[in-house]
Amino acid sequence: SIPVITIDGPSGAGKGTVSRLVANQLGWQLLDSGAIYRVLAVALLHHNIEVDEEEPLIPIAAHLDVQFEITDDGESKVILEGEDVSNSIRTEEVGALASKVAAFPRIREALLRRQRAFRVEPGLVADGRDMGTVVFTDAPVKVFLTASAEERAERRFKQLKEKGFDVKIGRLLDDIRQRDERDQNRTVAPLVPAEGALIIDSTELSIDEVVSKILSFVNE
Ligand code: C5P
Repeated sequence: SIPVITIDGPSGAGKGTVSRLVANQLGWQLLDSGAIYRVLAVALLHHNIEVDEEEPLIPIAAHLDVQFEITDDGESKVILEGEDVSNSIRTEEVGALASKVAAFPRIREALLRRQRAFRVEPGLVADGRDMGTVVFTDAPVKVFLTASAEERAERRFKQLKEKGFDVKIGRLLDDIRQRDERDQNRTVAPLVPAEGALIIDSTELSIDEVVSKILSFVNE
């Protein structure tokens, strides 16, 4: 079957960058599953749909009109209903809403097939929370990438500031802790390392060090 490397972990651990670099190195497809949850959150905002109940959200999740494109200069673009939402899906507000929506089991189920469709030759690097535990349980290589909450808040702070967002570090740390709590304690697909996963704590590691750890694990 088509090989998959799953890279799961909490937000801000560096999964996005690491996954992209590993995929580029191997020439494999990349799945940013968090982006799917974020796009769904944006769609709900656009359509003014409350997220208190699961039922009304299911058809939106099932029929989400989203495209992931790579531009000629290698930038990835996310298109929702014909509109470029690449930037708007990255705000803290949308992240928080995505994490709320992600706690609904039938929403997660409605997005399964869409995620599995990314598994194409010659292979897939799948970035998320439950890639190794739920979506690609048969993946031959599983990684759990983590870092301290303080370090993750610091990284997020730098990232957002570079993009011109006005943010407070204390607020980011609170958000990260709240989201960790919700992601770890939800009943469906809680954020835990998959069985047999290589656990990497990136608090004291550079991106390149993490990437080479993963690539050498792949080649074992
Ligand atoms: O990784 P990212 O921060 O973009 O994900 C946004 C939110 O989507 C996460 O906080 C998490 O609650 C949810 N998510 C998830 N399962 C995934 C990817 C993301 O529950 N595979």
